[in-house]
Amino acid sequence: MPIRMKLVAGNWKMNGLLDDGAALTRELKERATTASAALGCELLICPPATLLSTVGGILAGSGIALGGQDCHAAPKGAYTGDISAEMLADLGCSYVIAGHSERRHGHGETDAVVRGKVAGAWRAGLVAILCVGETQAQRQAGEAVEIVSSQLAGSVPDTAAAATLVIAYEPVWAIGTGLTATSEDIAAMHAEIRSRIPSGTRILYGGSVNPKNADTILGLSDVDGALVGGASLNAADFWAIAQSCPAG
Ligand code: PEP
Repeated sequence: MPIRMKLVAGNWKMNGLLDDGAALTRELKERATTASAALGCELLICPPATLLSTVGGILAGSGIALGGQDCHAAPKGAYTGDISAEMLADLGCSYVIAGHSERRHGHGETDAVVRGKVAGAWRAGLVAILCVGETQAQRQAGEAVEIVSSQLAGSVPDTAAAATLVIAYEPVWAIGTGLTATSEDIAAMHAEIRSRIPSGTRILYGGSVNPKNADTILGLSDVDGALVGGASLNAADFWAIAQSCPAG
């Protein structure tokens, strides 16, 4: 069984201008380069596209990885406003998020569209963080496993491999709401997901992860890290979450 290095990824969403984005990155770099003990996880920042260059420049030598929040499936072309995975790689990204619920629900992205994005990420040499998760109505109707399974079936390309795929289980109702799934529900869904993806693939949990609940969530055996939105905008909080990953 391969060792799955935990990953704590910060999704800044549409937040940050040049000055505050740079300040936040510097604060994280300072912590990463002066920490007395090694973290038990890999760290990743996914800033808005406008900040990738600035953030990437500051992160150099910090060991913190850079990622995009989304990409187009095509390498280039007449797609106004879109960004290709190759462009992200060109800026130093090693990861890209695909199929975040704010894209699936806010931009009507289907599983087929998300699948194309994941394939685009791999073509450009990036690791894809593929997001799946049920809405509150779907959970209440007892459909959570069915929904997540069908998102996986529709969005994961056939050539999936553990080294280039990360799944983020993010119950839609837990994102940005302060609500989190119970440990039992997280464990059950992660086990279900694990049965459907290549062995060794990392599975992150996302949905209102914060310094207070991180210990419990990151201590669950099938949880290989966290995708963090709101709390990643505060260096102390993001760092505290990263420190919650059990070492080794
Ligand atoms: C996210 O954006 O993926 C997320 C989980 O956000 P938050 O941590 O704010 O719920």
